[in-house]
Amino acid sequence: MINLKDFTLDQIKDLLDRLGEPPYRAIQLARWLFQRGCLSWDEMSDLPKDLRARLKEFTHLQGLTIVQKRVSHRGDTIKYLFGLADGQAVESVFMRHLYGRSACISTQVGCRMGCRFCASTIGGLIRNLSPGEMYDQVLAMQSDVGERISHVVLMGSGEPLDNFDHTMVFLEHLTAPYGLHIGYRHITLSTCGVVPGILKLARRRLPLTLAVSLHAPNDELRNRLVPINRRHPLEELIPACQEYTKLTGRRITFEYALLSGVNDSSRCALQLTRLVRGLLCHINLIPANPVTGRDFSRTPPARVHRFKKILEKAGLSVTVRRELGSDIDAACGQLRRRVIALNG
Ligand code: SAH
Repeated sequence: MINLKDFTLDQIKDLLDRLGEPPYRAIQLARWLFQRGCLSWDEMSDLPKDLRARLKEFTHLQGLTIVQKRVSHRGDTIKYLFGLADGQAVESVFMRHLYGRSACISTQVGCRMGCRFCASTIGGLIRNLSPGEMYDQVLAMQSDVGERISHVVLMGSGEPLDNFDHTMVFLEHLTAPYGLHIGYRHITLSTCGVVPGILKLARRRLPLTLAVSLHAPNDELRNRLVPINRRHPLEELIPACQEYTKLTGRRITFEYALLSGVNDSSRCALQLTRLVRGLLCHINLIPANPVTGRDFSRTPPARVHRFKKILEKAGLSVTVRRELGSDIDAACGQLRRRVIALNG
């Protein structure tokens, strides 16, 4: 059975054309799928009955099932573990902010990037998510909470640029007027530094925010923490970021998770200022979330402050990420791992 949400709009047009339908039907159908998140053929009242019956024979509208749901004690963060049709599961997080509601979604089941401190990569990559499976995470949270999602961040499990084509189809629907019509400026794509993917994305000139998970200011340290650095070292990554800002006019966000005694020294901070000098960027410091089975601890607040001051003194724009939902494992692949562990 085909999930119609995996199709591009052109593919939906082609399909309907082959079924003898006029072109405007594609938009009608797309609205049911991507805007209203309709899960039943019976509701699609403006589509001919016989068309619906024919589509039903080889396509399905099945959404995701909620395997687990945890609400933070402040109530502003909800973490979901969603079940996929083949029995796999992915995590997504809903967050309520002053500026709107955001959805943090996964792009792969597991991940093959191997970052030292990340829980999502522990079991390796299981498979890519399809565009429809990414979209369904947003729809499922929106319908469960009953609030409109205004921002989407691709920071759940997986590496979006390792699943490039599916991610692009997903973004096309997400931003389309027949879909949720979320502006690219409200979308953040986070990568650990897949340089060819960054360059490919830059050429599309989408006004989305690119976040790059830097985590270390030199190759020696970054090779250990973010293994893709061995294939694409900083001397490739930084020029790729430069190219990205040049082609899109958008500033890059560098994510830097502070790990106690590993990458949080004053020397690291100074190296970082030199590394990104002249680049249109913002730095987001993240007190690292502890991960079961991974041997590191988070930098204490006083040292986070010292690190931040050094960057600011060099004229960089820096924030420390506000923590939401660490009481519900809402960080980085941890809920899925916990459930896998519980279920043996
Ligand atoms: N693969 C992409 C997106 C997923 S991870 C990427 O690497 O950017 C989203 C962010 O969470 C990344 O910046 C990642 O490095 C960070 N992260 C992973 N594990 C973490 C942990 N234990 N504590 C803090 N941040 C973590």
